[in-house]
Amino acid sequence: MKIDLTGKTALVTGSTAGIGHAIAEGLAAAGAKVVINGRKEATVEAAVARLKSKYPDARVVGAAADVSTAAGCAKLVKAVNQVDILVNNAGIFEPKDFFEIPDEDWTRFFEINVMSGVRLSRSLMPAMLKRNWGRIIFISSESAVYIPKEMIQYGFTKTGQLAISRGLAELTTGTGVTVNSVLPGPTRSDGVEGFLQSMAAQNKVTADEMAANFVKEHRPSSLLQRFATVEEIANMVVYVASPQSSATNGAALHAEGGIIRSIA
Ligand code: NAD
Repeated sequence: MKIDLTGKTALVTGSTAGIGHAIAEGLAAAGAKVVINGRKEATVEAAVARLKSKYPDARVVGAAADVSTAAGCAKLVKAVNQVDILVNNAGIFEPKDFFEIPDEDWTRFFEINVMSGVRLSRSLMPAMLKRNWGRIIFISSESAVYIPKEMIQYGFTKTGQLAISRGLAELTTGTGVTVNSVLPGPTRSDGVEGFLQSMAAQNKVTADEMAANFVKEHRPSSLLQRFATVEEIANMVVYVASPQSSATNGAALHAEGGIIRSIA
């Protein structure tokens, strides 16, 4: 199987770093035109330059916009033209004791992790249905199913994405459009790396030891028994974005190393 996305345009939210950047790279390497998104113009430009220097033939453009607001999503939609592949990746996470989480945090997590995907899908999906081809992929999490007690406000948004993704898939019946979710497990993205480094310094261990201990203590059912790399997640997303994945629709696809003990 050779994945060729020539002629397709992909928008990946939150793609200046982490999993989103690896997805953008994977899509660009497969021939898609890729729109890189982040909040700051300079960071977006730097990410575009990084990909262009690695893949000189790739068509990579930037669109700075904060997808945590309705105005930011509208700005992004205005900046892009036709989008064939929408990857709703931008998301935030923060461990916090449930009893310490104020209302504002619940709203903030909901706006960025859930409403960004809702707003962008609402704007971009009708044209996909009209063209009879499109891919919408929500980057959810193993935390959607295995709600972490230290981040209930995060887990709830990731479960919400699964509901929306499945609901949107119901609107694609009989078309060439698919809507799926991908569930990564612990993944060494830029955001997680920073978190591991600071926890490691506090505990006087290395970041690698911190990661290994986290998996052993907090995700003991992991079959992978390590953090995933961002490329391992991106590979799944590139496949789901491809024409070859046409029979996969309305699915919650696990790339979480077997933490979730379910057969189906
Ligand atoms: P990260 O912090 O490494 O990168 C996040 C990216 O999103 C950055 O480019 C950041 O600039 C951008 N971003 C943040 N807020 C934004 C906003 N309001 N508007 C536009 N861009 C914004 O994060 P990551 O670990 O790569 O996570 C990406 C996605 O994967 C998230 O949805 C997260 O929930 C999910 N996920 C991550 C893990 C993990 O262990 N890393 C596990 C499961 C799911």
